[in-house]
Amino acid sequence: MKLKSLELVGFKSFAKKSELNFTAPITAIVGPNGSGKSNVAEAFRFVLGEQSFKSMRGKRGEDLIWNGTAKLPRQNRAAVKLIFDNSQKLLNIDFDEAILERVVHRDGVNEYSVNSSQVRLRDILELLAGAHIGPSGHHIISQGEADRVLNANMKERRLMIEDALGLKIYHYKKQESERKLEKTNENIKSVESLRREIAPHLKFLKKQVEKIARAAELRAKLVALYHEYFRRESVYINRERAELAEEKKLPSEELKKTEHDLARARQVLENSQGADKQSRELLTIEEQLRTLRARKDELFRDLGQLEGELSAEKRLFQRLELEEKNEKHRTIAWREVEKLAKEIEEQTILEKIKELVANFLTLHRQTRDGTILQEAGRAIEKIGKEKTSREEALKKETVNEEKLLAKSAELKVIMEKEKDENRAAEREVFRLMVAQNEMLGKLQMLRSREEKLRANEEEYKRELSEATAIAGVEAIHYEEIKDEVARAQLANELHQEQTERRRELEKIKIRIEEMGAGGGGDIIKEHQEAGERDAFLEREITDLEKTSQSLGELVTELDEKLMAEFKTGVEKINAEFQKYFAMMFGGGEASIEVICEKKRKRAELGEEAGLFDEPSGVAGLLAEAAEEKGEEGIDIRVNLPRKRIKGLDMLSGGERALTSIALIFAVSQVNPPPFIILDETDAALDEANSRKYGDIIEELAKKSQLILITHNRETMSRADVLYGVTMGVDGVSKLLSIQFAEALEVTK
Ligand code: ATP
Repeated sequence: MKLKSLELVGFKSFAKKSELNFTAPITAIVGPNGSGKSNVAEAFRFVLGEQSFKSMRGKRGEDLIWNGTAKLPRQNRAAVKLIFDNSQKLLNIDFDEAILERVVHRDGVNEYSVNSSQVRLRDILELLAGAHIGPSGHHIISQGEADRVLNANMKERRLMIEDALGLKIYHYKKQESERKLEKTNENIKSVESLRREIAPHLKFLKKQVEKIARAAELRAKLVALYHEYFRRESVYINRERAELAEEKKLPSEELKKTEHDLARARQVLENSQGADKQSRELLTIEEQLRTLRARKDELFRDLGQLEGELSAEKRLFQRLELEEKNEKHRTIAWREVEKLAKEIEEQTILEKIKELVANFLTLHRQTRDGTILQEAGRAIEKIGKEKTSREEALKKETVNEEKLLAKSAELKVIMEKEKDENRAAEREVFRLMVAQNEMLGKLQMLRSREEKLRANEEEYKRELSEATAIAGVEAIHYEEIKDEVARAQLANELHQEQTERRRELEKIKIRIEEMGAGGGGDIIKEHQEAGERDAFLEREITDLEKTSQSLGELVTELDEKLMAEFKTGVEKINAEFQKYFAMMFGGGEASIEVICEKKRKRAELGEEAGLFDEPSGVAGLLAEAAEEKGEEGIDIRVNLPRKRIKGLDMLSGGERALTSIALIFAVSQVNPPPFIILDETDAALDEANSRKYGDIIEELAKKSQLILITHNRETMSRADVLYGVTMGVDGVSKLLSIQFAEALEVTK
């Protein structure tokens, strides 16, 4: 026995806790109309997870809860518990007894549990699907639903059959896979769109990074060039500095010496200013000489005059001496004569006499007396004395002149000597000045080179700090050249080449500046991160695509499996269907066919036109169905014995019930469910058919437990256990185990 018991609390008319134990293969539930029998069948549906309230004759969850009467108040929840013997692991849980419970509350909330653990509806459905208990309820035939399978459309029939064949589990798996596939494809799309979203930024970053790489390359080039440049520049500057110091040494020393000599030479010249004193002295001497000579000339003149006077006096003296000796030369006193002349003049006698006397006087004025001689002698003596004094003075002057001349000559010699010395000193000064100028010129040139070097050094320092700023500190960490030969080679290189290098450096600097990429550490990091993210997304897409592909394959596989199992299932059903149909109708033919909706319509049209001779067969139909992609379904074909009836629509109520029962039984035989509930399926059967029905039921009970709700005596007679359902005035259904005779009584 697979089914153990059913317990109802507050479910519909079962206000109080009621329990049915299924201890035999066939259990019949009997009771008067409206006592609550069908509620039991619905309790099964309920606990198995039925979601259609309609199939439980309600509109909402609340309708399933005991609604209360005057005597017994309504309840807030309806609960149904179904217990299976799970020792054979009918349900895939690790318990020997499987207890399924469903509770519905007035607010419509449902609770499901398996062995007291709360689960989802889905879990219940999957668990049951594994035991061929599907939600389509093919194994629960409600009242008036006997020909449900006939009334159902092709698609519903197909679902029913799939359910009965236990293929629902594949559907669940397929749905699950399709859901996953859909989700996966959505994920692919969203990851792709994410990738597309970040793509422009990544592209931008890539370009930036390339730019940074180019800038880094340029910077490396710049650094290398800087090293070349600085290395040479430092060598150049050091050498130039050393050279200048060396070159300056000699002219500086020479200049110093020249200036020293020049100072000395100038001192010599300055000292020669004594020549003026000497010339002034010479001039004084010459002046003195001139005065002296003038005096001498005067003395000579005086001497000459005195000599003349002396000789004249001498001659006078001699004449007078002679006259004295001669009488004729007697002398009249001059005073007498002048007295005479004066007396004549005063008499103003004849002018002529006056004139004669005057002449006489003149003529005799020379006439002297003896005193004249004496006077002449005295004059001679006096003149002689004067002459001697003059001669002595002249002598003195001559000595003085000689002295002056000697002094003058001496001075001239000295002056001449000094003049020579000055000229030499002047020449020396001139020579030294020329030399000094030359040294100064040389030093000036060196100084201008020094200036240039200083400017170079300044520029060098500026360039070092600029290089640090532009290309980082490594730009100035160039390796110095220690080897002297190599240094000399570098220094010998034309400085013009450094200018070329500088120009190249400028060009690179400008290019780096134009790039404006900066250090770019952040960009590189961001690019790396974005790249990693993109790669991650790409991997994600690949993974998702793989998943999608395998899910797709799984779906196809499930489809194939479904199709294959469906096909063999349908074949098996057909065999059983034919068997039960023949049993029910005493012959005839019945089959189900998988058909595509379009195909069916076509077939119907063909039938109408008398052209129904198309090849049948599930495989062919399946293939065609797949080709036409129409909705697949199950068509039922019957051929009653002795009757030319082919369409289901042409069957009588009883025939429909029999056909339907034959199909239900056929289906349940292929994949027997653990239990089958038949709610008055036998209602439309006459006695003969009831017997056939009873026979078949007994056969079914070999594979499935049967719960039969019935008013049919024949059916009751086949049951092992009977339950009576009664309802009192309180409207509460009650269950009681009864005997066959009681059952007959209850039914009445
Ligand atoms: P029949 O033999 O005519 O098919 P039955 O024995 O199958 O009848 P049910 O249809 O199972 O009877 O029972 C219907 C009864 O259950 C009705 O009397 C109805 O009032 C009662 N019922 C249904 N829902 C509720 C509810 N929520 N609360 C109380 N009683 C309810």
